[in-house]
Amino acid sequence: MKYIGAHVSASGGVENAPVNAHEIGATAFALFTKNQRQWISAPLSKKSIDLFKERCNELGYKPNQILPHDSYLINLGHPEKEGLDKSRAAFLDEMQRCEQLGLDRLNFHPGSHLTKVSIDECLRTISESINFVLDKTKGVIAVIENTAGQGSNLGHTFEQIAQIIYHVEDKQRVGVCIDTCHSFAAGYNLSTTEGFTETFRNFEKTVGIQYLKGMHLNGAKKDLNSRVDRHDSIEQGTLGTEVFKLIMKDPRFEDMPLILETPNEEIWKEEIELLKSYVLPR
Ligand SMILES: [Zn+2]
Ligand SMILES: [Zn+2]
Repeated sequence: MKYIGAHVSASGGVENAPVNAHEIGATAFALFTKNQRQWISAPLSKKSIDLFKERCNELGYKPNQILPHDSYLINLGHPEKEGLDKSRAAFLDEMQRCEQLGLDRLNFHPGSHLTKVSIDECLRTISESINFVLDKTKGVIAVIENTAGQGSNLGHTFEQIAQIIYHVEDKQRVGVCIDTCHSFAAGYNLSTTEGFTETFRNFEKTVGIQYLKGMHLNGAKKDLNSRVDRHDSIEQGTLGTEVFKLIMKDPRFEDMPLILETPNEEIWKEEIELLKSYVLPR
């Protein structure tokens, strides 16, 4: 099954996210389990947790259709102790929220070296951060998102992602989310059939398809290899729609959340319908 949705609002409580997803015809969704721009949020209430589970059950969302996203403040590769400790504590809190909600994966941006340490050192710190949180939680997979490689953000090459996974002790609980816009911005040419085939052949060889736990489906505003993270709507921008047609017909992308993070949420419903139409045989 292809599960298609968007990163919906959880404003007013996480229990509103499944309702917002259902309203746009989504069969998958992403959400923030706390305010993504603050370090500290109140714990989830029992009422919120129960309602979230009840609504997911009623509306037909299982854990493999839901991809929570962590806070933008967290840097699991932070070169300084204070920043790293704060990031690890915040990430642990987010993993525990996922545990409480009965979810099985948490999507995060790997981290940045802030030009203070080497790439290798930063990647090693990220692996250790993952080991730190996996040790203290159960059942939730830490899902590394590939980045556009903007600034000092790591995780823009499959080799770097493989290097992070290599040092993670529990390989069953680490995964990857591929963002189409980020891949294109990082130099993987997903705009053509040949480029798509080559990119995922490379992914299979370098990382391994068994690690793929979700996708972010975004158009791109900037050119190939721009290293700039600017999402566009599915039918607009520089990436084109071929990549989405290919993903929708490819069994490697089944049974995982396929999530729109496109800029115009007014058309998410239509974008989801469009993506669903690509699933049907041509
Ligand atoms: Zn993304
Ligand atoms: Zn992005």
